[in-house]
Amino acid sequence: MAAPTTAPLADRLRAIVGADAVIDDRATLLPYAYDASFWSLRQNRAPEAVVLPRTTEDVARVVRCAAETGTPIVARGAGTGQTGGAVAASGGIVIAFSRMREVIAIDRANLQAVVRPGLVFADFQDALRPHGLFFPPDPGSGRACTLGGMAANNASGPHAVRWGTTSAYVLGLEVVLADGAVIWTGGARSRALKSSSGIDLTKLFVGSEGTLGIITTLRLRVQPRPPARAVVLAAYAALEDTVRSLDDLFAAGILPSTAELLDTSAVTALQRWKPDLALPDGEAVLFVEVEGTPDHVASAVRGVDAIVRRRATVTRFAEEEAAVARLWAARSGMAAAAALAHPGKHRIFAGEDLAVPLTEIPRTIRRAREIAAELGVAVTFYGHFGDGNVHSAILVDPADPDEVRRADELADRLHRLAIEVGGTVTGEHGTGAVRSRYMRAEHGDALDVMKRIKDELDPKGILNPGKIWNEEATSRR
Ligand SMILES: Cc1cc2nc3c(=O)[nH]c(=O)nc-3n(C[C@H](O)[C@H](O)[C@H](O)COP(=O)(O)OP(=O)(O)OC[C@H]3O[C@@H](n4cnc5c(N)ncnc54)[C@H](O)[C@@H]3O)c2cc1C
Repeated sequence: MAAPTTAPLADRLRAIVGADAVIDDRATLLPYAYDASFWSLRQNRAPEAVVLPRTTEDVARVVRCAAETGTPIVARGAGTGQTGGAVAASGGIVIAFSRMREVIAIDRANLQAVVRPGLVFADFQDALRPHGLFFPPDPGSGRACTLGGMAANNASGPHAVRWGTTSAYVLGLEVVLADGAVIWTGGARSRALKSSSGIDLTKLFVGSEGTLGIITTLRLRVQPRPPARAVVLAAYAALEDTVRSLDDLFAAGILPSTAELLDTSAVTALQRWKPDLALPDGEAVLFVEVEGTPDHVASAVRGVDAIVRRRATVTRFAEEEAAVARLWAARSGMAAAAALAHPGKHRIFAGEDLAVPLTEIPRTIRRAREIAAELGVAVTFYGHFGDGNVHSAILVDPADPDEVRRADELADRLHRLAIEVGGTVTGEHGTGAVRSRYMRAEHGDALDVMKRIKDELDPKGILNPGKIWNEEATSRR
């Protein structure tokens, strides 16, 4: 029986989903107070209660309960987000999807799968592998982050160059709206791989960070897994040559599956951390991957090597899977390498996700280095070069308030730099609480249209308040 609306929130939730699905003791709430953002780590923002639903109906009833009293409700996957997105900025309920993580169906013949939002990306890949399939968007946090979080943030990774972002792979979503109603986007019964039918609501919910609705099931496009891959490693005397090299590849009709950049700061950090890689010196190093059938890869890797050698000072390539895996393992440990290069400092996630036009990457990194030097803040640059995504690992001693202040200023100036050079403040990590202040500068009047959609779908403002739209920060003044 439903508890009266005057009963304590956790009691009302227990009456809806059962006692074992509600957390309200302070110690167990604590992990839900944070995500990976530096913003969240600075203050305990524990919610009043956490709900662990098992079904869509559980979610719908919890949302209806929240709507009755105007209580904020924040969806949470694994909490690996870097913007405070999964943190309850105004208290209320966190709805965490760790119990809704089933693979409901894998349909190879129709190149799609249906999954629950709490499924971890790596577990999904493991389930797809025996079918010869894979899910292309590949965030660095893939062993922890969930498909629901990826869709809500439109996540991606190194393979976005060739394969695109999560958005390209979401065919349909089951969504609980702010009044508790449940809809399917992309056609309630559709298993089609494309559609021009009606307004694309799937795209609207992807990237909306839990502010328009709560995702309870995803119909995802998957792809045949390329059986082979190889990586060309190329070192350059000047950053500008990396852009020329990539353009040479485009001119030859080659789109690599990844093109990852290490700026000189990252090269030095990785050389120290993994000396056995014998990474060559350079102002920049690129890892360029090709994939496909073994025959194709064997000739493609030589073709890429011949082209990048025109601009690079040193090149070599890895074809054996073990050698390729070693290179990628080193690249994915970039954050650890950056921290080791600056003993006593911690890597923070702030200003870490600029995306700029490819041709602007050298200017962006050069200017960013100057700003960091001016402020006296240590920073390592690297990124998904092939799609213009520049990551910065800012390193600070969190116990030094002046250094923290300077790091905040650096992050702020990096965001503004991205907009100035024709880019975006976030290529893949989202807006959350930390980037709302840049939304007006980046989107202009389109921000008002986003807000009108928000107000229409969530008139009481209960879904993830304090994210994307922060009225004070986004006002015209
Ligand atoms: C070391 C590290 C490396 C990373 N590398 C990458 C990378 O390469 N590429 C990349 O894109 N990101 C990366 N990230 C950021 C992060 O992992 C991604 O944004 C990821 O998609 C978040 O997934 P999550 O399950 O942790 O979501 P959470 O952090 O729990 O939530 C993220 C957002 O999604 C919303 N949300 C979660 N579930 C739902 C749901 N069911 N319905 C509606 N909204 C929901 C939340 O409210 C929040 O706004 C990295 C993070 C870390 C810590």
